[in-house]
Amino acid sequence: MHADKPREACGIFGVCVPGQDVARLAYYGLYALQHRGQESAGIAVADGRGVMLHKGMGLVAEVFSDERLTALKGFLAIGHVRYSTTGASHPVNAQPLVFHCGRGMLGLAHNGNLSNGFTLRRELLDSGAVFQTTTDSEVLINLIARLNGDRNLPAAIKRCMAKVEGAYSLILLTEESIYVVRDPYGFRPLCIGELGGGWVVASESCALDGVGARFVRDVTPGEILEVSPAGLRTHAVETVPRRAHCVFEYIYFARPDSTLDGFNVGRVRREMGRQLAREFCPPVDIVVPVPDSGTAAARGYAEESGLVFEEGLMKNRYVGRTFIQPLQQMRDTGVRIKLNPVREAVAGKKVLLVDDSLVRGTTSGKIVRMLREAGAAEVYYCLSSPPIIRSCYYGIDTTNEAELVAAHKSVAEIRQHIGADGLHYLSLEGLLRVFGDKAQDLCVACFTGEYPVKIRDWGVGKFASCTLALGVSG
Ligand code: SF4
Repeated sequence: MHADKPREACGIFGVCVPGQDVARLAYYGLYALQHRGQESAGIAVADGRGVMLHKGMGLVAEVFSDERLTALKGFLAIGHVRYSTTGASHPVNAQPLVFHCGRGMLGLAHNGNLSNGFTLRRELLDSGAVFQTTTDSEVLINLIARLNGDRNLPAAIKRCMAKVEGAYSLILLTEESIYVVRDPYGFRPLCIGELGGGWVVASESCALDGVGARFVRDVTPGEILEVSPAGLRTHAVETVPRRAHCVFEYIYFARPDSTLDGFNVGRVRREMGRQLAREFCPPVDIVVPVPDSGTAAARGYAEESGLVFEEGLMKNRYVGRTFIQPLQQMRDTGVRIKLNPVREAVAGKKVLLVDDSLVRGTTSGKIVRMLREAGAAEVYYCLSSPPIIRSCYYGIDTTNEAELVAAHKSVAEIRQHIGADGLHYLSLEGLLRVFGDKAQDLCVACFTGEYPVKIRDWGVGKFASCTLALGVSG
């Protein structure tokens, strides 16, 4: 039912804790990041002499067995979970990527999307490079390996950063250390924690909590950080005039228990709900969240408005990736496996629904219909984000622009399209107010079309659509 959402790109995790079972730590870290990607999972481990890798298609628990984890021995590990696409699976694109380079083995876990990835791939291909995958992550590892001729990896990474544009949070694995890199805009989150005298790196702080690590700090945008048994060492911080943390991490992707760049996700969502209530408060009886992503905002809305919060929709938490879609005739007769209204809670009531975002509008229409069938007298739909009018080119699959309902319809038309009695999107001003003077550090390009980093490969329509369809994002 909830396919009508942007898809996250990936989650990454790194660990350097000598004397501990780093593969298992990576496994639990990836478990905590599973919401960021369900298509594939992988862990690469280094022991000072080489790198071992295991990866496969599926959830973390499906890819790794106790036996597999036991075989991965070392003191450094990096891990990756990749997002699920609606099309065919592509095992070749699973990460971490591990290559033999001129100067030893190199592994990479990447979250983000390069906005000049196609151009760089073309240049590399023209100069004789070969590619195994369709990911722009392989562009990164190719560039770094080529620029590492003098065995100075931090300098090679720096030279690579001067060439690539767009979003990249990276964890690189060598035989002796881990290098952690965040693009100068800081599009995708990345933080570091301390554990038993060693270090842990993760896309979100919830993964640090998951392995019992203490949050130390966010990786600074533009930073190249070396993590080894000798400690942490910052090699360089590349600066740009602004930052551009993805606001969608707060709206939908990240876990509410994560704190990203100083803001707790759950609190931000609650505040978005409060803001919504200040902007739009029709005469309704109850506030109902669209679970789970609308729950925190709905609570905030209820707190601010004084209205009753009701769990009027129940989500089946056990419907996963392998769910077999019901046949059309079954759908027509009302098979509701993923989401079901609580008739007793909504019958005869004027309901205000709170959801986080609306992409195509197909699911929202079904939810409104479902509530009416369950007896709701009126249904108002509230979104805790502004209308999505542009695609994302920085590692989030917001679908192509032609399918974005708000890119082609007015709010009044969308209201009609989904069959609601009222529809309200959180205003951009309201959204930004939640972040106070840090709002200037956000990317909001999918709401405004003002991209912080130029999309050089924009015109390469084929590649762009291939990127989204094949899930090339890291
Ligand atoms: Fe996030 Fe939207 Fe910016 Fe993409 S365009 S990074 S989804 S805010």
